[in-house]
Amino acid sequence: AVESRVAAVTGANKGVGLAIVRQLALTYPKSPLRSGPLLIYLTARSPERGSEALKTLSQDPQLKEAKVLIEDGGDTTIKYSELDISQTKSIQQFRDFLKKEHPDGIDIVINNAGVAMQGFDANVVKQTLETNYFGTLEATQDLLPLLRTGGRMVNVSSMAGKLNKYSDEIRNEFLQAAKTDVPAVTAIVEKFRSAVKEGREKEAGFPSAAYAFSKAGETAFTKVMAMEEAKRDRGVLLNACCPGYVKTDMTRGGGAKTPDEGAKTPVMLALQDIGGKTGEFWQNEKIIEW
Ligand code: NDP
Repeated sequence: AVESRVAAVTGANKGVGLAIVRQLALTYPKSPLRSGPLLIYLTARSPERGSEALKTLSQDPQLKEAKVLIEDGGDTTIKYSELDISQTKSIQQFRDFLKKEHPDGIDIVINNAGVAMQGFDANVVKQTLETNYFGTLEATQDLLPLLRTGGRMVNVSSMAGKLNKYSDEIRNEFLQAAKTDVPAVTAIVEKFRSAVKEGREKEAGFPSAAYAFSKAGETAFTKVMAMEEAKRDRGVLLNACCPGYVKTDMTRGGGAKTPDEGAKTPVMLALQDIGGKTGEFWQNEKIIEW
């Protein structure tokens, strides 16, 4: 029997995440990783917004032509599943659901969900880290073990998380932590959080920017976990990327790329031959400096 493949995308009800789902469905038939039919879980924290997104996809002419089915078993199928990455319980429920539905494992996870809040204070920092750092970290830790041999995980981080905004000391701490373990990365997150609380993040070598910091942390733990995963010798590749500056709700009218253009690098990292690269940071389909 032909094995089928299973993918999941977080924060997929709109923006880059929705475009990723669409392009996974359209690109998969020509992918070197193709094996049997593909089932994609479009996940979102809101069932209303999730089913709205499925409705949009069911009217997409390109998907229709490619015979992609919505909520109904066929060659390529897209289904909705609830997942709020800021809630531990929600991540665990989704993990358990996947384990039950797909006891032999899944193939692709794209951690795309993220928030960018206005302003800078302890509350903004708390909420941003809860989703972008701790939420994505938990989703990575819980879903990575479900990936089969040859599986792919892609974390949609950001160029905002590049290390050029930090003091030499913090920059080196990040680089070191990314070669150590997750607790070492989380220790820098805690250091940032307490510096913000005391209003001295600048003196401590950090930018006054919650989103940028959360994405530096996301890239850091992705590197660490890719290194740890490589030791398991399962050929599972885990990479971080930036979609580019994309026109979505997040950029409020800004953005140079369309969501489809933004989805290109994450979809490439999930479906194309990337020469076994893992633990790298990518933008515009190339490895770039973190
Ligand atoms: P959008 O704001 O358009 O979409 C963000 C998505 O994440 C939405 O589906 C949102 O759901 C979801 N989300 C937010 N919080 C959670 C949560 N706790 N659990 C589950 N889903 C959640 O942003 P983009 O499409 O632009 O961003 C996608 C990713 O790309 C993000 O990680 C972002 O940081 C990154 N990125 C974007 C750039 C850009 O220029 N747009 C540049 C660099 C990186 P809901 O609708 O319910 O809020």
